[in-house]
Amino acid sequence: MNIEDFVRKDIHNLEPYKPITSNWDIKLDANESPYDVPDQIKEEIWAEVKKNMFARYYDPTSEKLREALAAYTGAEKEQIIVGNGADEMISTLLLAFGGPGREVIIPTPTFPVYKTFAVISGARPVEIPLKKPKGMDEIWEPDYEGIKARFSKTDPQILVICYPNNPTGNYFSDDKVIELIEGFNGIVVIDEAYYEFGGRSFVPLINKYKNLAVIRTFSKAFCLAGLRIGYMVANEDIIEEIYKVKLPYNVSLFSQIAGQVMLKYTHFMEEVKENIIRNREYLYNALKSIGGLTPYPSEGNFILVRFSKGRDEVYNGLRGKRISIRKLEGEALKDCLRISVGSREDMDRMILEMKRILEGIE
Ligand SMILES: *Cc1c(COP(=O)(O)O)cnc(C)c1O
Repeated sequence: MNIEDFVRKDIHNLEPYKPITSNWDIKLDANESPYDVPDQIKEEIWAEVKKNMFARYYDPTSEKLREALAAYTGAEKEQIIVGNGADEMISTLLLAFGGPGREVIIPTPTFPVYKTFAVISGARPVEIPLKKPKGMDEIWEPDYEGIKARFSKTDPQILVICYPNNPTGNYFSDDKVIELIEGFNGIVVIDEAYYEFGGRSFVPLINKYKNLAVIRTFSKAFCLAGLRIGYMVANEDIIEEIYKVKLPYNVSLFSQIAGQVMLKYTHFMEEVKENIIRNREYLYNALKSIGGLTPYPSEGNFILVRFSKGRDEVYNGLRGKRISIRKLEGEALKDCLRISVGSREDMDRMILEMKRILEGIE
């Protein structure tokens, strides 16, 4: 008996998600916050969680967390759905609106999860390359005309925009994205996982554009990557369809309460955000002062760096020093590495080792 004969062909061809699991001294590979939630806030989460029976299923609609999110986002609570991370929101949206016969248009390089879940849904991912910047003063921009040329008038499609884009770090032009939304026959997903660091958002436009769905997360600026909380903001018609697809009890008691408590302490998140933005400028300037590489400006908590030589030597050399940063897949990024913004101390160590490695290969 051969399991390969039983599994769906398109699933068999996927690569499993294998996170970098070693015990690193310095971990700058997953865009996590280097700052943890303070003990006082953790204690409050425990205390709230303890008031509830673990034996019972908890609220399948995350009612209280949605109320808090309505206040935070300015949307109505009926326009919000909560998921087990932003990843689950991407997955359910693609299951509900993708599927066999549908196309998912993805400007790439970007977050690889869109393509994976497009395939899992049975849809066809259509990757349209960003225009690679030639010089320091250029940014990665979508090929707007190329994207429009793929628009179908007859068959509903999905368009995914990562805003700001992971891993390139920049926002795309608002006007151009709006032009895409207006001409599109299907759902436009805006992934705002890094919203807090850059401050620009499409949430105010969800009432104007009924086909717009915005996805956000608690994993980055809210420092809760380990607890898996994400959400989608869109008009009620979209949200209702998503409810049909999501797992019945997708967000645990623990996660829902943690999300609610964190939204009481947005000043903690604001402080984290300010620190990260300061550290981001510090890292950008430090990288800029090193010869042979180009850091791209970033609106997230990470910086993409292009190496004119020694990309692999730097990556492997840092690993040898127990420092992990991210190597990315694909032709467009074959000379690039992505570095998460960490603590000053961790970034200084990383920069020092990077300089040593680059000097060694000159
Ligand atoms: C980190 C990230 C996510 C995943 O968020 P989770 O809530 O942890 O699942 C989604 N989109 C982008 C672009 C990300 O970088």
